[in-house]
Amino acid sequence: MLKNIWYCIKKTSEWYFALLVLYIILTLVNATIPILSAFLPKLVIEKLTLGSDIKGLIGTIMVFMGSIAVLTGVSKFLTKYLYFEKFSINVHYLKLVANKGLTTDYINQENGIFRKLQEESFLCCNGHSPLTQVYDVLQSLGTSVLGIAVFSAVLYKLNVAVILFIVVTTAVSFYLNKRVVKWTDEHSKERMSYVQRLNYINAISGDARSAKDIRLYPMAKWFSDIYTDNMKGIAAWYHKLTKKLFSVTACDGALGLLREGIIYLYLIYLFMNGQISVADFVLYFGVVTGFSAWLSEIFAEVSVLNQLSTKINRFREYLDFPEEYLREGGLHPNQDKLPKVIELKNVSFRYEENQPYVLENFNLAINPGEHLAVVGLNGAGKTTLVKLICGLIDPTEGQVLYDGKSIAEYDRVELYRMYSAVFQQFSIMPVTVEEIVAEAPATQVDSERVKKCLELAGMWERIQKLPNKLQSQFGRTIYEDGVEFSGGETQKLLLARAMYKSSPIMLLDEPTAALDPIAESEIYHKYNQISEGKTTVFISHRLASTNFCNRIILIEDGAICEEGTHRELLDKKGKYYNLFEMQAKYYREEEVVE
Ligand code: ADP
Repeated sequence: MLKNIWYCIKKTSEWYFALLVLYIILTLVNATIPILSAFLPKLVIEKLTLGSDIKGLIGTIMVFMGSIAVLTGVSKFLTKYLYFEKFSINVHYLKLVANKGLTTDYINQENGIFRKLQEESFLCCNGHSPLTQVYDVLQSLGTSVLGIAVFSAVLYKLNVAVILFIVVTTAVSFYLNKRVVKWTDEHSKERMSYVQRLNYINAISGDARSAKDIRLYPMAKWFSDIYTDNMKGIAAWYHKLTKKLFSVTACDGALGLLREGIIYLYLIYLFMNGQISVADFVLYFGVVTGFSAWLSEIFAEVSVLNQLSTKINRFREYLDFPEEYLREGGLHPNQDKLPKVIELKNVSFRYEENQPYVLENFNLAINPGEHLAVVGLNGAGKTTLVKLICGLIDPTEGQVLYDGKSIAEYDRVELYRMYSAVFQQFSIMPVTVEEIVAEAPATQVDSERVKKCLELAGMWERIQKLPNKLQSQFGRTIYEDGVEFSGGETQKLLLARAMYKSSPIMLLDEPTAALDPIAESEIYHKYNQISEGKTTVFISHRLASTNFCNRIILIEDGAICEEGTHRELLDKKGKYYNLFEMQAKYYREEEVVE
């Protein structure tokens, strides 16, 4: 906990040192107000009973009241000011989370644990985040500690046993309350499961995509029953909590009554015996109440800090999530733009330890300038192979060599410059069309090159028809008048982007799956022209589209099961032939039906 508090303080002092100073001032101010308020009645009574002159009395009251008024004003102002100012720190934390997500080893983004930590870390920086809540709790804790130090000194003069008595009874109260908190924590999963189911049904009841299924398969009644069951479940859960809260509150109240009752009786006894004056009686009266209130706060605040610390631990675990890939200090690939030999040597890969291998003892050499096609059924491991080739993921066993050296030895950022790719799962940012193709801000875009690439990808005419042409904004998520493209058009745009990057190695993972056969054939024709001299790895499940490749490998069960040119593989009459025939038959039958 202390380490996490120190972490938050250190970060804040880097970003906004004045915030810490203001919190310290607020702590001092908040501790001084109740101390002054406790001493004022004693002083007034003393002056009255000792027959002090009226001017002196009014002067003392004015000084005290004036100070309390000014300090209260300062406290209110600082509390409001800091309430809003502390949120500015969240932006700094958010930037750390986003940066980690953007630059972390790619494999981390496929790791369930990392993704969960990432989600929690984003939540950690929103609104009342634990990272900024720490200041408020520390400020209250500081106030309580300062106050209790002064009040302890006062009570020490009275009787040490009084302090011990208050500490013990307050600790018992705290323990009782803590049991309710513990019960809530232990049973929060049960509550969450009800809430999640209710939220799920709420969400799909207004979801247009689910609306068809809900009606055609009569699911409304089924969902309605689930809703009722979960509502009953959540009501029963809160009923149990309320019962617990009631009994704890009753015990807590009785304990408070007992504590203060006994001490007040003791004070009355001392007063009756002439051991304390009226002024002291009034002072102790206030101090006892204040002491136990501050003590409860200290217990509560330490407990809150503990809870916050658990969340901050997860946040820091995310930021410190291990990075295995080399960056600075790694080898730089030769940027002479000539394709290099890429070799997979005895490569085995699995996504998680307890999962089967996707590729096992896999060997493949891709020659410079070669156009290699990778075919196979869904789930055969084609995309995994492409990710291994470009170093997005590292083999579990074996090596991937780039120009004879393991890619683990390269600066990964530099290595990625050598590849341009079109993946099945793609992301297009909501920026202008030319910025999408160039993957760079407008000031760095070579518009002529963008135009050439869009022409080659067969997308130029479509862009020309847009009102703002290359400057049209993509997507409706941010821009109301943003343009949307069909699946096929998007793939053309992605192809243009891959061409613009002009890297020596092209990786195309089903880049034409959403195109009709005519557009597909046109693109391959053009692609063949521009990819002259480039190494290309091309994935497809449509075997006919691999014609233009120099070599085809068929993957099955994590290994290469057939290899050769399209003609050689057909002549072999093996698995490739069978697959090809199956697909061809499908098309032929379609022709017959037409
Ligand atoms: P293909 O591209 O041939 O369809 P993939 O390489 O995408 O096949 O997937 C190969 C196997 O690896 C599949 O069984 C798939 O479920 C699994 N797989 C793919 N990505 C992940 C991942 N991130 N985590 C766990 N398993 C994965």
